[in-house]
Amino acid sequence: MNDWLQTSIEFLKGVGPQRAKLLREELGILTFHDLLSHYPFRYIDRSKYHSIRDLPMVDGFVQLKGVIIGMNESGNGRAKRLTVKFQDETGVIDLVWFQGYKYILPNLKPNVPIQVFGKPKQYSSSWNIPHPEIIPMAQVDPNLGWQPVYSSTEKLTAAGLHSRGIQKLIITLLQQLQVQQLPETLPASLLNELQLLNNRTAISAIHNPSNVQLAQKARARFKLEELLHLQLELLLRKQISMQRTAGHVVSEVGDAFHHFYENHLPFPLTNAQKKVLKEIRKDIGSGMQMNRLLQGDVGSGKTVVALLTMLMGIGSGLQGALMAPTEILANQHYIGLQELLKDTDIRIALLTGSTKKAARKVIHEALLNGELHLLIGTHALLEDIVQFKNLGIVVIDEQHRFGVAQRARLWKKNTTPPHVLVMTATPIPRTLAMTFYGDLDVSVIDELPPGRKPITTQHRFEKDRLVVFGFIKREIELGRQVYIVYPLIQESESMDYANLMDGYESITRVFPLPDYRVSIVHGKMKPEAKDYEMQLFVEGKTQIMVATTVIEVGVNVPNASIMIIESAERFGLSQLHQLRGRVGRGAEQSYCILMSGDKLSKDTKKRLSTMVRTNDGFEISEVDLELRGPGDIMGTQQSGELDLKIADLVKDGPLVALARDKARELLAKDPRLELPDHLYLRMEAVKRLKDKPNWAEIS
Ligand code: ADP
Ligand code: MG
Repeated sequence: MNDWLQTSIEFLKGVGPQRAKLLREELGILTFHDLLSHYPFRYIDRSKYHSIRDLPMVDGFVQLKGVIIGMNESGNGRAKRLTVKFQDETGVIDLVWFQGYKYILPNLKPNVPIQVFGKPKQYSSSWNIPHPEIIPMAQVDPNLGWQPVYSSTEKLTAAGLHSRGIQKLIITLLQQLQVQQLPETLPASLLNELQLLNNRTAISAIHNPSNVQLAQKARARFKLEELLHLQLELLLRKQISMQRTAGHVVSEVGDAFHHFYENHLPFPLTNAQKKVLKEIRKDIGSGMQMNRLLQGDVGSGKTVVALLTMLMGIGSGLQGALMAPTEILANQHYIGLQELLKDTDIRIALLTGSTKKAARKVIHEALLNGELHLLIGTHALLEDIVQFKNLGIVVIDEQHRFGVAQRARLWKKNTTPPHVLVMTATPIPRTLAMTFYGDLDVSVIDELPPGRKPITTQHRFEKDRLVVFGFIKREIELGRQVYIVYPLIQESESMDYANLMDGYESITRVFPLPDYRVSIVHGKMKPEAKDYEMQLFVEGKTQIMVATTVIEVGVNVPNASIMIIESAERFGLSQLHQLRGRVGRGAEQSYCILMSGDKLSKDTKKRLSTMVRTNDGFEISEVDLELRGPGDIMGTQQSGELDLKIADLVKDGPLVALARDKARELLAKDPRLELPDHLYLRMEAVKRLKDKPNWAEIS
């Protein structure tokens, strides 16, 4: 790439060392090239305004016109904040700054018309706009048409680099660009064939469009380019993984499996479980290393598949390890598996952060001399000191919480890399799975064990509360138990805590002793206290469990048949689905009730109605994907595993398909991308394959 593009951003006029540091840390922008590829995520029509009254119904950014009618600074030190009362013809809303608002004070004059631009947020029942952009109306250019909007962060905003600040830098850069050589990064043949804008035209059009059509054309070019890189990467990875790593050969199903299957398996397997086991059996018998992703909704019975897989390994003299993301979950797996294996001679142990030193030492030794067959644990299992005699099968539950580096450590535990089964209850649509897990093969359990009654889900409002309480009372009289869950979001942790406590108090008033007993569990409690309360509920000594999302994973109380989710509008779809999965585990009809306020945005309505409509995790994940985008869902925005800057795997479906076709054609013509016209494609592919190793190659 050319030198000018690689110039450090620090040397751009208006940046300097401090802003450069912020741009690097907050947005990963290091060079001129990086800044030019910080594309606007939308354009707003600067001639249109929203009204304050309608804000709860609008998603995303809004532009308002009005005056300041009051100002108030409160708190001090880090808790310092500035609240500004802003009014238009339809209502009043608070504009809030938490830090670094000094630079904005000169613009805050009462009764002078201003333009406000920002993203409204809801805090319990009221709305405000944190860190908005503000311009006096007198300075608003009436001819301004489409204004690009850039993503920024709180820290950048505090340093004057909100969307508009970033735009200023980019305009400076575009001026310099006019006298620079700029290489074309797409093959000329492709530009011609698809009639795409060239690189230079597209860059200025995307940041500074004379009209929206041109901006769209520029976006299409960059999206296609990005998707083409991705598809080339996937195809090349596939080529590489055809030459797979040799793995332990599990040549027969073995005695350990048969003995358990015939004597101790408490239920017949579902057809879906059997199908998946056959796929696994084929993998581990092939002589090549298995890398398989097992998807199955909450409660579909993945654990027993994991166990049976590990038993096949044990039959061939291999050891197995099952790794879970949290201690609660590891514990639950341990207790469950121990119960299943209690009349067998399979030896099993639990290793987590809280395993005592002496017990640890015993486990380490038993692993090394082969006395232990199965190890269940958390990250603690990855530590170098944990060595096996012959680790052969690794099962990772809820993989997306493990990073690449952590996975890599598993490979050090034996000379031949273990077979890997990754399990997830967060269903991922197929295109996404392909993209995220590169060369993993995918199995799906698409059937629940028989006899489960579908959970009935309803959406209720504050005015229905008495009816809901009456319903809870009746169910408790029938001997059932109830979860009541409150949101906990870090941004407003103390407020959430207050809500939870308020809720707890009113619940204990409506459900008083001695007829009713209420447990409470939240993040601020000591682990022992949490366990104690949890245990009371598990044993049925309390009928109601008031909790924050700490119960999202890990609790299994078949007698609990009602899940009430408070402020349901504040939960994401997959979280709601996971929470709902806590009930419906016993023989009784179960219910999930979503409580919410009255004013709901379009997205929120869609989330809640989707929950009411379906119990199908796959369907829910499709809607979730549509609403949130893939990066957010996979929690990879920070870890940068999926590096899509502009394309959207869901919304740009046709472009994804086009990119795939073109990638295939390119590789058919030039399998190693050696033609001069493919130089930039090759450079990018090499970088990607190096940055993100294949599963099978991690070492
Ligand atoms: P998940 O896929 O969410 O990890 P689990 O493995 O925890 O699900 O299984 C949920 C429950 O279903 C467990 O109590 C398990 O014993 C039970 N289960 C699993 N498979 C079957 C089956 N084939 N028939 C009946 N119950 C089953
Ligand atoms: Mg599970």
